[in-house]
Amino acid sequence: MFRAVLEVLITILVAMVARAVLTSVIKGIGSAARDAAGSDASAKQQSSDTRTAGVLHKDPVCGTYVAATTPFRRQAGTSTYFYCSEACQASHLRASR
Ligand SMILES: [Zn+2]
Repeated sequence: MFRAVLEVLITILVAMVARAVLTSVIKGIGSAARDAAGSDASAKQQSSDTRTAGVLHKDPVCGTYVAATTPFRRQAGTSTYFYCSEACQASHLRASR
């Protein structure tokens, strides 16, 4: 009777160890695949970011280069001014009047 219980315990132990090893191996393969895919995806992300922020305009007030996507901009005749902040926008507007 004791022997049977011991055998069951050993079987469970072996199954748990085998499962742990299998899980870690699968995790290792999975993370390796994820790393490869992740670095690829981040490289793509980076290139698209560079494209988006590719066009920079100089803030006429403080000289900071700002992205064309900035909400602080002003169309004046044929030219568009880009500002780093609302303060620069207001200051330039005051100066141009
Ligand atoms: Zn500015």
